[in-house]
Amino acid sequence: MTEVERHSYDVLVIGAGGAGLRAAIEAREQGLRTAVICKSLFGKAHTVMAEGGCAAAMGNVNAGDNWQVHFRDTMRGGKFLNNWRMAELHAKEAPDRVWELETYGALFDRTGDGRISQRNFGGHEYPRLAHVGDRTGLELIRTMQQKIVSLQQEDYRDLGDYDARLKVFSECTVTQLLNDDAGAISGAFAYWRESGRFVQFDAPAVVLATGGIGKSFSVTSNSWEYTGDGHALAMRAGAKLINMEFVQFHPTGMVWPPSVKGILVTEGVRGDGGVLKNANGERFMFNYIPDVFKGYYADNPEEADRWYSDPNNNRRTPDLLPRDEVARAINTEVKEGRGSPHGGVYLDIASRLSDEEIERRLPSMHHQFKELADVDITSEAMEVGPTCHYVMGGVEVDPDTGAADGVPGLFAAGECAGGMHGSNRLGGNSLSDLLVFGRRAGSGAAGYVSSLTERPTANQAQVDEAARAAVEPFGAGETYENPYTLQSDLQRLMNELVGIIRTEGEMSEALTKLRDLAERARHVGIEGNRQYNPGWHLALDLRNMLLVSECVARAALRRTESRGGHTRDDFPKMDAEWRHTLLECTLDGESVTVTPGEQVPMRADLLELFELTELEKYYTEPELVEHPARTG
Ligand code: FAD
Repeated sequence: MTEVERHSYDVLVIGAGGAGLRAAIEAREQGLRTAVICKSLFGKAHTVMAEGGCAAAMGNVNAGDNWQVHFRDTMRGGKFLNNWRMAELHAKEAPDRVWELETYGALFDRTGDGRISQRNFGGHEYPRLAHVGDRTGLELIRTMQQKIVSLQQEDYRDLGDYDARLKVFSECTVTQLLNDDAGAISGAFAYWRESGRFVQFDAPAVVLATGGIGKSFSVTSNSWEYTGDGHALAMRAGAKLINMEFVQFHPTGMVWPPSVKGILVTEGVRGDGGVLKNANGERFMFNYIPDVFKGYYADNPEEADRWYSDPNNNRRTPDLLPRDEVARAINTEVKEGRGSPHGGVYLDIASRLSDEEIERRLPSMHHQFKELADVDITSEAMEVGPTCHYVMGGVEVDPDTGAADGVPGLFAAGECAGGMHGSNRLGGNSLSDLLVFGRRAGSGAAGYVSSLTERPTANQAQVDEAARAAVEPFGAGETYENPYTLQSDLQRLMNELVGIIRTEGEMSEALTKLRDLAERARHVGIEGNRQYNPGWHLALDLRNMLLVSECVARAALRRTESRGGHTRDDFPKMDAEWRHTLLECTLDGESVTVTPGEQVPMRADLLELFELTELEKYYTEPELVEHPARTG
């Protein structure tokens, strides 16, 4: 039997980004002993990198905004594939979650009359993103960490131990969820990254908040941690993933120099007036307004420019179309020979705002380009292009509680949960998602634990097997595969064959190649020992990356239409018959199975928020029979 450090909690939160921290705060506030585990340093998560802001219909900058408008924008952005109940809860609760952050100590930028300021972003009808310059995620994490410290101080006062009811385990990677004989969650198995020692956490409830999968693509805004761990852990525990074919390519990543290719240029640049231009200096986005959005966006530069100062009497600029539309447009411009020297297009804020305004509103962007690309964005345009940014797909959860379908005790929130954003997420809707559904998952987990009469017990054989699997790469024999080579082959494959534009032939080729990579991955080997060994860490992460990549490729091959973050060159149109179908990925032994499942039809009062003429662009005729405009 391997030596394993052991801890017992009521609720285990895996991930310390916005979703994980908000879930942990909630579970602890409901009196449960809670642990937060994160594989990077505490405070280092994607949430920290969020620049643009947090979408919440507070109506501070335009009084016309309210939850119904936000709900409509979110459903339109997701091309009506969203879980409508999640979109409803999100739109209704986001403003309270933003306010709550200020009670934890956050300080958002202000309007002239002292209210929380809100900025424009793609797909949002009104200025809606509460922000702190372009460092909003940092403020969000900072204040939630501060809240955690204050809860720990309370525990010290009451119980004499800071960690009595809320403890953070950082630089600790979970490799497997544990369950009892009936399949209910009983904890998780992990290792300390520094020492390589194993840790067993016993807990009847686990909240997955592990973020995204972007590191499986070669051009990405994601950092090293985002290897789809939560997605893979959930699948191996018996949960379903939905919407995995929908991967968001943010339209504006840096394209130059190669060492920083993919790093994000916030949509806030366009929200604050920046415009996209091709190599001929043309503002090309006017040529790419899709039929479903015609009438909502300005079709000429004069109106688009007026919209910034007079949004009530002008239509918004198509530079702020949802991300999937802008990314495809840039792709086409480059493919047709109108790109910039390094294969992108130009994003120009220099000719639109004064130097002082740019430095005040976009300090991180100014610094990023100056330091990394030697470009001064106050005097010249940025070269930008699509970068893999966000996964809409994730664990299928109950919208109200975050409970994963089919695995008692498992919950998920944030980017690793699926449904909320449908086929395409609107910018700013992630930070609000983390707060709304992090809180709900923490509460769902607390409620579940409180309702138990008996705690599930750990299965020793499973723990031993998890330990054996973890050290497997050390015994690979004389000739073995290098994990770094495998990772780079996987990234190239996913970018080239399952990237922004997809075809049946390329995806079939990708699946064959993924099988080869999976076979090679069996022979991944590393040298040295378990003490801080990044090659070993990557070897373990690769298993998750391969599994999740297969889900993306299989689901993408199956969906024979184009919608949001899934574009098929061979099926370029959106097909209403696919709108009500969710592709569910499950694991059967070692094989990924993709099964079509039915969307729950939208509640009538929510359906009524849309004009029938708009719904007709997305829905089948039989689905609209009950619409009040028809029944009349
Ligand atoms: P994350 O914040 O990604 O945190 C995941 C956590 O899980 C980390 O602590 C990680 O260490 C941990 N973890 C992962 N695997 C394991 C494991 N196996 N064991 C233990 N721990 C693990 N969204 C917006 O709404 N507005 C924006 O302005 C915005 N800007 C962005 C800018 C950038 C550059 C990027 C990359 C994203 C941006 N997003 C934005 C998206 C948003 O930041 C993310 O979707 C969101 O932060 C995800 O939060 P999360 O809590 O789900 O996970």
